[in-house]
Amino acid sequence: MFEENIYYFSKSEYSENLNFEKIGVRASRAIELSTLTMPIVPGIILNSDIANKLNKFSSKDYLSKYFEQFNEEMGKIFNSTDNPSVYKIVVSPSLEMVDFPGIHNIGLTDKTIEGFKKFVGENFAYQEYATILLKGTINLLLRITKKEIEIKNLNTLLESIKKAKTTDDFKNIIENAKAILPKNFFEDAFYQIDYLLGKFSDFLNLDNPEENDSALIIQPMVFGNYGEESYSGKFTTRNVITGSNKIDGIYTKNEFDVTGDINKLNIQNIDKKYLTLLEKIGNDIESHFKEIREIKFTVEKGKLWIIEQAKVIKKSAQAELKCLLSLHERKFIDDKYLINQVSTNHINELLHPIIDPNSIKSFKSITLGISGSPGAGIGKIYFNTERLLEANRQGIAQEQDANVILCLPATYAEDVKAIEVSSGVVSNEGGYSAHASVVARQYGKPSIVIPDVEIDTEKKVLKYKDIIIKEGDYVSLDVPYYKTPSLILGKADLIKPELKESGMIELLEILNRNIKEFHVYGNGDTPKDANNIKTLGGEGIGLCRTEHMFFKEERINIFREMIISNSDKERKAALEKLKKFQTKDFYEILKIMNPYPVTIRLLDAPLHEFLPHTKEEMEIFYDYIKKSNINIDKKELAYKCDMISEVNPMLGHRGCRVAVTYPEIYEMQVSAIFDAGYQLQSEGINPSLDIMIPIVMNPEELKFIKHGKKIEGTNIKGIIDVEKEVREQLKVKKPLDYKIGVMIELPAAVLLADELAKYAEFFSFGTNDLTQTTHGLSRDDFNVFLPDYSQFDLIPANPFQVLTEPVKELIDIAVSRGRLTRPDIKIGLCGEQGADPNNVDFLRNIGLNYISCSSYSIPIVKLKLAQLLTAQ
Ligand code: PEP
Ligand code: MG
Repeated sequence: MFEENIYYFSKSEYSENLNFEKIGVRASRAIELSTLTMPIVPGIILNSDIANKLNKFSSKDYLSKYFEQFNEEMGKIFNSTDNPSVYKIVVSPSLEMVDFPGIHNIGLTDKTIEGFKKFVGENFAYQEYATILLKGTINLLLRITKKEIEIKNLNTLLESIKKAKTTDDFKNIIENAKAILPKNFFEDAFYQIDYLLGKFSDFLNLDNPEENDSALIIQPMVFGNYGEESYSGKFTTRNVITGSNKIDGIYTKNEFDVTGDINKLNIQNIDKKYLTLLEKIGNDIESHFKEIREIKFTVEKGKLWIIEQAKVIKKSAQAELKCLLSLHERKFIDDKYLINQVSTNHINELLHPIIDPNSIKSFKSITLGISGSPGAGIGKIYFNTERLLEANRQGIAQEQDANVILCLPATYAEDVKAIEVSSGVVSNEGGYSAHASVVARQYGKPSIVIPDVEIDTEKKVLKYKDIIIKEGDYVSLDVPYYKTPSLILGKADLIKPELKESGMIELLEILNRNIKEFHVYGNGDTPKDANNIKTLGGEGIGLCRTEHMFFKEERINIFREMIISNSDKERKAALEKLKKFQTKDFYEILKIMNPYPVTIRLLDAPLHEFLPHTKEEMEIFYDYIKKSNINIDKKELAYKCDMISEVNPMLGHRGCRVAVTYPEIYEMQVSAIFDAGYQLQSEGINPSLDIMIPIVMNPEELKFIKHGKKIEGTNIKGIIDVEKEVREQLKVKKPLDYKIGVMIELPAAVLLADELAKYAEFFSFGTNDLTQTTHGLSRDDFNVFLPDYSQFDLIPANPFQVLTEPVKELIDIAVSRGRLTRPDIKIGLCGEQGADPNNVDFLRNIGLNYISCSSYSIPIVKLKLAQLLTAQ
């Protein structure tokens, strides 16, 4: 019964009758390497049919012929007193499991040790005998025996092994063991192996013997300290941090224990003949397993053996991507395989700096809250925009650390400039779609919303339990995409991403050729954003929030001046000052994005958002008013601001409603757009321009904005009129090709989509507002009770991240109604939900032409699209 259940394998062959179902995972791994003709140590597999039936087994009868093959291949002889070979036995279970016994150095006896010590020295030889062979044997016996006295004796011996240090200690242990183990165990290597095979069988029979599915493997051992030309080491097939394709690891020369502290040398310095061989082995193993692997090897007296190879768990996203790209380049994997191996986690890690975990081991942290924007950032914390800006300015001027973190309960328009210069944002109101989170995402800054902390802007402290963070303290933000974010107390080290180094550019090329007839745009409103969007593979800008352009330091007070002006004349004068900024921004953005489309949204934010929200801001604004010789005192100014402030601004005076009251605002913006557009045209650039109107609730509004209105002596200019005016002024012959479109952000706009499509050449779903108005949920306050809703399963996900069924249905209705009127209408989505890969399939299937999301999400959306398309 035994013969047919014993299989032999070596670096170039394995038994023909081998049954893979009966050899377990470890043996399968060995066979896999054998098929790759790797220099593996040969071995014998005792399959699962017999592995637990070896109590009366005789290795001399059944294994001699294999042992002879071992002797020949290894150049050492089992049971020899002169040149002994020693073996190991390990269990090969059917599932990947740890804690299965293995015994090494089988064959070391009082006789064979004489030969063994000639190669490795006396101390090491006895150490191996006592602390490896005997310890392994005792541990195996302890797992089997139930006899108390035996357990006691075995444990006493085990204790003495733990304490042993000198050769004499080891020798004593061997002598003491003779009182417990059979005498022959110390005299005859064949007896020893049969005895241990019997014990392994007992071990495998501890559970149900009828159902044993583990096999046993016997293999000769090799030593990297077996004299000159002996080495041992381990290496990964490439660098696990950078992904550089050189093998990376350590080795020792004729020393024991590569994992200890002794003489570890860089693998690149090993003798050239082994390096070349190891490089080839690394390459072959990586190509075969299609991932980075770690390989352990030993060179014994000039012969190189692969001992083990395994998956590498701790590796950077860059290293994984580089590995995949190199396999792809060498045609081991195709586009589809690569696309499906990359995950959104990889992309996030590639795009954002990460905290070096070694640098924060001793730091306290608050690990809580919502990830507003992923990434990591470090800096001194400030609880006030002005103080933060000042600290940042001073840091730069004094050439000192200018990194700052903004910490406020919530952010407003005037804080955007602080977010722009900061390394991260901490807040405690709102959530993923709160102002702080949205703006931080746009600027690629990490942001955490931690509702449980107390942020006291007066006292300038953040409190959480016994933790107090004061103004100017260093904090580090660690905001991983799919894990709870951490606010760390102290200055961590950052590992920054290098786009060109990371393989991202090559990945985007592969993704792009697999995405057809669907586009991914970015949301952005500065030339810097535009560059980012283009670099990250965006094929256009789907949302340029023009109000963000007014938030910058030198512009916000002019805008405020415009809001509080008393007459059309004053307002127009302020707008004229703003126009030059807008024109410049539009010019640059359109130029950078050419030939891709840029969707410029006319002013949306409620006027309320532009007003000063703190005493300091009010002071600054008042200083500006005085310097500009505007005749208004402090009290009146405060009163005016109060008057503009709204109770429910998100449903208030915003979007196109502002343009109905103050048509000159859109007039200025449209005029700036076409000034910039025609300037580019005169330079031979033909910009692709989409003008978008926000918060439209009915076709009349859209018609009004597009075509203007003449009524009782009042002539309101529409977009079309303004374009014509600019063209005539500039004496341009060929009109620019541009589109006018509408944001679908209100259920009313959805239901009237067929009517809106009469005037709109494109739709863009503003699902932040559409979700807010469909569910009656405030996008800024919803997170206060989201946890309760999640706890009781009242909502499947955050609706401001993952589109809800009602909102999806509304999108469906608007798409079909819009296309009834205008079959070729271009339709996209620019709400925050566009960045979540969970929404991509729906949006593509429903017939949208594009998704527009924050620049850092573009590769994620592209990846998801490519995964969906290659799966078909
Ligand atoms: C939206 O409402 O989805 C949108 C994109 O506009 P905003 O977030 O600027 O209101
Ligand atoms: Mg909106």
